[in-house]
Amino acid sequence: MTLSKYSIGIGDRFGRQGAAQLDALQRAQAAGVMITPVWNKSNREHQIVRTTPADTRRAADQAVRARNWGSAYFVDADHIGLKNVGSFLDVCDFFTLDVAESIGQPPNPADLAIFQKAQRRFVGRLTIPGLDADMDVTAAKLEQVGNTYLVAVKEAARLYRHIAAAKGTSAFVTEVSMDECDTPQSPLELLLILAALAAEHVPVQTLAPKFTGRFNKGVDYVGDVEQFAREFEMDLAVVRYAREQLGLPASLKLSVHSGSDKFSLYVPMHRALKRFDAGLHLKTAGTTWLEELIGLASAGGEGRSLSVDIYEQALARFDELCQPYATVIDINRRCLPTIAEVRDWNGERFAATLRHDERCPSYNPHFRQLLHVGYKIAAEMGDRYLSALAQFEPMIARHVAENLWERHIRPVFIGA
Ligand SMILES: [Zn+2]
Repeated sequence: MTLSKYSIGIGDRFGRQGAAQLDALQRAQAAGVMITPVWNKSNREHQIVRTTPADTRRAADQAVRARNWGSAYFVDADHIGLKNVGSFLDVCDFFTLDVAESIGQPPNPADLAIFQKAQRRFVGRLTIPGLDADMDVTAAKLEQVGNTYLVAVKEAARLYRHIAAAKGTSAFVTEVSMDECDTPQSPLELLLILAALAAEHVPVQTLAPKFTGRFNKGVDYVGDVEQFAREFEMDLAVVRYAREQLGLPASLKLSVHSGSDKFSLYVPMHRALKRFDAGLHLKTAGTTWLEELIGLASAGGEGRSLSVDIYEQALARFDELCQPYATVIDINRRCLPTIAEVRDWNGERFAATLRHDERCPSYNPHFRQLLHVGYKIAAEMGDRYLSALAQFEPMIARHVAENLWERHIRPVFIGA
């Protein structure tokens, strides 16, 4: 299966917003840009919300029928490993092989020797079209990359073969993710990782590197935008080179995780994609639930009370909710409004505090991040939450579609 040039990770915690998200993609289509939807939901989210991959498949199929979506779409087993891939095998056709945990583990010496021999061709002065300068690749650097990444590559290959044995080699799209680790990969490391994946015959179509700077959940990028832009362009040059020189799929492209709300990166990303005529997979999804909350709060009445109740419980269970996301959020407790304050707010004020709009004086990123990880509370409310979603559906759908189209798809893929 081949992924098209542009694709976007969508979906949502509760499996209710697929149609609204497709609405945004249909607006892109009307503007002449085809973007393939990929429903993604990680094992962590399934466990917290108590859903299964089959629920995601059902939500995707339903949305596709509801919106008459006639083009390709996928369901992604997001961030899986050998130990939890089982329940995703039947229903998914896109697998994000998360091998970040294997980064830095020492390879077995025989494997390292094979890697060094195979990739010795890169040692010396390496010219990659699109890079400002040649790369100097030394044997020592090659060894160092092998020592850092070879076990992760081997793990990806093992996982790929496991899935291919169950589904057949052409029944799914393969992504390899290395984003949930501490150190960004340099362009040379990226190249050698791709070369090692090619040597293992892993038909990787999307690779999610760790980029420089912080990609916190649901808020803007924290870091040096210029530096990100330079690295992103270098990565695109490397990916193009790898596609042409290493026998990897022609559809190979970068995948950007935690991609929602990185508003300051979208303009440089779009510019780079145009410059390299490159594709992109952008994972969003997690913040869709915040659009649900914004819609509920804006609707007033029970929608507003529900949002306030969720915040009250999120405050009370701060540590428990933040713990699974500790490395990807930055919340200062002192900057959170008290529940007494929030109870006094009307729905509009709640929505304005939550909505990611830096120009709005009410916007509070701490409030937003806490609610972002607070979806467990809504999950525990069960019917009360789901009935509210049904009751206020038009208002919520408008927020979900508008946010995806206007603030994400347009700047990244369309450039307007
Ligand atoms: Zn990720």
